[in-house]
Amino acid sequence: MITINDFNFKNKKAIIRVDFNVPLNENFEVTDLTRIEAAKPTISKVLGDGGSVILMSHLGRPKGVDPKFSLRHIVDKVAEVMGVQVHFVEDCIGEKVTRAVHNLKRGEILLLENLRFYSEETAGDESFSEQLSNNGDIFVHDAFGTAHRAHASTTIVAKYFSENKCFGSLLAKEIESIDKVLNNSEKPVLAILGGAKVSSKITVIENILDKVDHLIIGGGMTFTFIKALGGSIGDSICEDDKMEMALEILEKAKNKQVQVHLPIDVIAADDFSNDANTKLVEVSNIPIGWQGLDVGPKSQILFDRVVNQCNTILWNGPLGVFELETFSKGTIALGNSIDKATQNGAFSLVGGGDSVAAVKKFGFANKVSYVSTGGGAMLETLEGKTLPGIEAILSL
Ligand code: AMP
Repeated sequence: MITINDFNFKNKKAIIRVDFNVPLNENFEVTDLTRIEAAKPTISKVLGDGGSVILMSHLGRPKGVDPKFSLRHIVDKVAEVMGVQVHFVEDCIGEKVTRAVHNLKRGEILLLENLRFYSEETAGDESFSEQLSNNGDIFVHDAFGTAHRAHASTTIVAKYFSENKCFGSLLAKEIESIDKVLNNSEKPVLAILGGAKVSSKITVIENILDKVDHLIIGGGMTFTFIKALGGSIGDSICEDDKMEMALEILEKAKNKQVQVHLPIDVIAADDFSNDANTKLVEVSNIPIGWQGLDVGPKSQILFDRVVNQCNTILWNGPLGVFELETFSKGTIALGNSIDKATQNGAFSLVGGGDSVAAVKKFGFANKVSYVSTGGGAMLETLEGKTLPGIEAILSL
């Protein structure tokens, strides 16, 4: 894998695709610096070598030029995080940009305007990509969150750099972490899949059955499995058309000697709300009028035991409706179990969909080995797909 550590950026201009798609409040102030801070090691390496940095990113989903989505809003924050002045140019291609890039000195940063002000960006337009490529000597891809898209700045641009392209340290770390779970893992390997629906995770489950020894299934998708197995699930969320698929997954797991662990008990509620009446019931015995919204204490003990006997842990999806405090306990208990296992030497990776939100909300982000920065990109990787943005750097 070619990373920024394989290059010396002295007197070079690095054009870096970062993911600065940060949340802004109604005053256009950045409310979460995580993504800017995540890009710091890569930017610092280039500046430290004596090079200069041109940053390109998208922000939101503008339709054409729209000041609401201007990257100008984040210039001060990038400067604050990096500790150096950041120049800004109101475009990402064209004459103004060429001039700004030309005038950029060693140790300086230039932030380009939102790539998605051009529809050519998401279309992966060749001519637009080529113009972007003229903004630097070396292309550095450091945006895992968009690596599953074949957009101009994430994929197509790479072909104009021949050998002068590499992964930034953030993207390299993503690739290494996933590899540590899927390919170079220390056994026993556990995958925990939660979240709302089986349908959105089927391809993931099928792909990882070849990689894991244990599979914990939690969250809303539990009930499709339980109903398929003949249990009574009351009014719990269920995809009836996926019941057959659920049974096939269990059969495949058995053939591959993967141990599947489903919840034993659940917190059932008479309403989808924090103030609902709740009761603890067996997962296969939920009365009509009640829905399972979190895993119960027996399930938490079972999952704790499984988590703590594994050396590699992948966590995707909450075990319950974690957004509502009443139903967040199972997800928190699982976070604590993974924390303990990690302290005892296990490698734990959290990523994909809503899991990152849950991990951040409950303060587990620093307690697991790695939190992925890409929801969709992570899910597609777990599905066994090669991401175009990664392929583009690997191929010459
Ligand atoms: P995903 O994006 O697939 O990881 O799904 C996350 C969503 O699943 C969260 O918004 C949770 O509230 C929801 N969820 C988890 N458990 C349940 C459940 N038992 N019933 C309904 N929704 C659930």
